[in-house]
Amino acid sequence: MPGPKDYYKTLGVDDKADAKTIKNQFRRLARKYHPDVSGAGGEEKFKEINEAYEVLSDPKKRAEYDSLRRGFAARQARNQGSGFQRVSTDWDSGDFSEWGHLFEDLFGGAGGRTAARERAVPEETVQLTLEQVATGTVVALTVQDFKPCVVCHGQDPRCPRCQGAGQVAEPSRFDVTVPPGVEEGTLLRVGRHAQLKVSVLPHPRFVRQGADLRGQLMVAVPLAATGGELRVAPLLGEPVIVKIPVHTNHGKILRLKGLGLPVRGTRRVGDLLLEVVLRFPEPFAAADDRLYQELRGQHAETGGEVRAPR
Ligand SMILES: [Zn+2]
Repeated sequence: MPGPKDYYKTLGVDDKADAKTIKNQFRRLARKYHPDVSGAGGEEKFKEINEAYEVLSDPKKRAEYDSLRRGFAARQARNQGSGFQRVSTDWDSGDFSEWGHLFEDLFGGAGGRTAARERAVPEETVQLTLEQVATGTVVALTVQDFKPCVVCHGQDPRCPRCQGAGQVAEPSRFDVTVPPGVEEGTLLRVGRHAQLKVSVLPHPRFVRQGADLRGQLMVAVPLAATGGELRVAPLLGEPVIVKIPVHTNHGKILRLKGLGLPVRGTRRVGDLLLEVVLRFPEPFAAADDRLYQELRGQHAETGGEVRAPR
């Protein structure tokens, strides 16, 4: 399988050549092979030179190209016959992700647009906190995006930037709006042909269940017996007062309306569901122990049933 084109060879420079050497060599070759000078035979060569220079003259593109070239050489040494062909089929696999940025630089002309339709859409992932999901957020992202060619506006097949395709792939910055209530795995469009995948980080206190949030609320046994109030911090905002009804049992679900997550694209907001977990206040004081002994005397026959876990 062919590797990436050897742009250094095309320009006839060493792969350690500095920017000035590359520029001088490009100018020399461009003059020599310009179609007006060399006729039709030179056109292909002229395109190749321009393509090579487009990458090697841009420090960022050159760095990507170099790492691509090293990676290809290493893979080929490891595994004869793999490499380039897998790019089109395994576009999203991590090992080949480095191809993503450069691919459209290498094939940024008419061929590049064809390739863009045939392969998977480049995808970036953003990890959001549950708080960011609740409020919505904006993610700044730089991806390759096609832009109109300002050099020839698609009018010149010999255009060094676009070869007449009228579009070139360039790194472009996008501010991607992530709406409140976004779901895990949601794909948001970025520019014309990239997308952003949403991943939601685990939260230490809450789990998500659709638009509802679930958590466990620790309640002391005496408070659960007599009923009372607790201050509870929801996902966002100030603590709220939660009423603990008299005789609250372990496992009871307390529903706090409107303290869940927004439902994407609506005004509805989910609830916060708190599952009561009974706890003995610690440490056990001698006075507490005497009271519990007294209570046990009255309920010695309670308990002993077995049921399947829920
Ligand atoms: Zn152009």
